[in-house]
Amino acid sequence: MALAGSVLLLFNLLIFIRGIVCDLGLPQNHLIENEADSPEENLQDDTGDIDLRNKLHDQMIKAYSKIPVKKYKCYSCEPPDCREGPPCYNALQCWKSRVRDSNGQERVSRGCTTQQEQVPLYCSTQHHHHHGHTKRHTGGQYAIDCCVGDFCNNGSFPLLPPIIYPDEVPVYSDHSVYIWKLTLAILGPIVVLGTLGSVVILLMRRRHRKRLMAARSLHSDPESYCPSDDMLRATAAGDTTLREYLEQSLTSGSGSGLPLLIQRTLAKQISLAECIGKGRYGEVWRGIWHGENVAVKIFFSRDEASWSRETEIYSTVLLRHENILGYIGSDMTSRNSCTQLWLITHYHALGSLYDHLNRATLTHHQMMKLCLSMINGLVHLHSEIFGTQGKPAIAHRDIKSKNVLVKNNGTCVIADFGLAVTHTQATGALDMAPNPRVGTKRYMAPEVLDETINMQCFEALRRADMYAVGLVLWEIGRRTLCNGVVEDYKPPFYDAVPNDPSFEDMRKVVCVDQQRPAIPNRWASDPTLAGISKIIRECWHQKPNVRLPSLRVKKTLVKLASNDRQVHLDLDTL
Ligand code: ADP
Ligand code: MG
Repeated sequence: MALAGSVLLLFNLLIFIRGIVCDLGLPQNHLIENEADSPEENLQDDTGDIDLRNKLHDQMIKAYSKIPVKKYKCYSCEPPDCREGPPCYNALQCWKSRVRDSNGQERVSRGCTTQQEQVPLYCSTQHHHHHGHTKRHTGGQYAIDCCVGDFCNNGSFPLLPPIIYPDEVPVYSDHSVYIWKLTLAILGPIVVLGTLGSVVILLMRRRHRKRLMAARSLHSDPESYCPSDDMLRATAAGDTTLREYLEQSLTSGSGSGLPLLIQRTLAKQISLAECIGKGRYGEVWRGIWHGENVAVKIFFSRDEASWSRETEIYSTVLLRHENILGYIGSDMTSRNSCTQLWLITHYHALGSLYDHLNRATLTHHQMMKLCLSMINGLVHLHSEIFGTQGKPAIAHRDIKSKNVLVKNNGTCVIADFGLAVTHTQATGALDMAPNPRVGTKRYMAPEVLDETINMQCFEALRRADMYAVGLVLWEIGRRTLCNGVVEDYKPPFYDAVPNDPSFEDMRKVVCVDQQRPAIPNRWASDPTLAGISKIIRECWHQKPNVRLPSLRVKKTLVKLASNDRQVHLDLDTL
């Protein structure tokens, strides 16, 4: 609609400009025509076709001689000043005239036109004076008024246009009219286009602001727009650290991120340092905020839905957990008139578990730390916490080693909640995109691949997460040293499907052939790895209802860890 309107307006504008430009051209043609027609011009122009002119002249005289003749009395006086003189008689028309000679001297006179051929010559046009205004008429200028009736040539004499000297600008000449029109032709479109542009920009800004407001109200109730005293104090305190801010946000009830008031200025205060990852929805950057490293996930503007989803999930009260990626805030800003969607979280220099496993081999202790912390995060995610300040159960739907990050202390956090789904028992409500085929194909459970999963059943989504956990535990196990032996890092199904496998590739391997990654023989001789292989098999079982829930995996891992002398973890804190 708006586009059609603009096109129509532009079209009208073009017509308008054409009109003015055409308009500008017209009077000049007109002038030229007049000049060519003017009897005086004809008289003075000795370059024209004399024969043709004489012919025309004769024809005009003939035409006038057919007019019925009536004779009048007229005033008559002589130039230069036309003092009283005797009237003249037998006039076909009376006239009064003003003549200016080449020195600028003006003379006036009145009299009778008694000869038939004089009539067309002097009186064929009413106002001759405008023939005289051109500067080229160095031979002089004249104006004559003719009339019909006794003594009709009384009163004032016709006027001649003022004398134009080359350096004088006439105040009300035709010339000035053209200048005005030209100015209008140039300025008019500029003003119209400028106004149009301003209106469009204003509308776009309003729309942008509306979206910002909508986005910000996503993770807040209306009350949180009114800054509490706590928030104001936090904003005023320039030296407050990130941790202090976040602790404050827990008490101010603005979800798991920073107080909303601070989130609103976040993007402006962050400088982006380096790109650390590229994913499905955009790029992840290391940024610096108040001297501390933060991770900034910048979504493509077309993926606003994923940004909203992730913002919403992170804003869940009580989501904050040591094994869930720490959320700082979200912001929607415009840079270079593009909407930018930012999600700001804690930064973890070791990167994803995938990066970490590619780089390093693991001792039993390190392996257990990774496994236990990851499953600890998942238990928190999968559990519903009841009460007014509770949290819904959340299914991740995209568990994989690239979506688990490694902290400097060797524990894991779960990240990337772009596909997460929440569930509240009391209402039974599931909020979810209708497409069942989401997530990373390589990690999709068989029931997702063959689309037999009941998407309305939250438990089914949790079980699909557990299938993926089985694959990630297998990736970790391969990198765990046992008697100095270790496998290379490989992604699940590396030997069964090509890079970037299709649904069909995956479905054939996982559903039809019911293949699973091979568990190396050496694991059997290591009690901990053997225990983990049992967990893995139970996680990636073909039948979803046989799979272990996250809490069961956690408990089994704790038991394995307590029996492993190489592992020194404070298991009571888990
Ligand atoms: P996407 O939704 O695009 O997959 P992710 O949140 O999974 O985005 O991030 C993509 C990659 O960026 C991760 O696999 C990881 O390598 C890197 N990354 C993401 N967040 C962080 C972070 N907080 N600290 C360090 N690296 C990160
Ligand atoms: Mg990801």
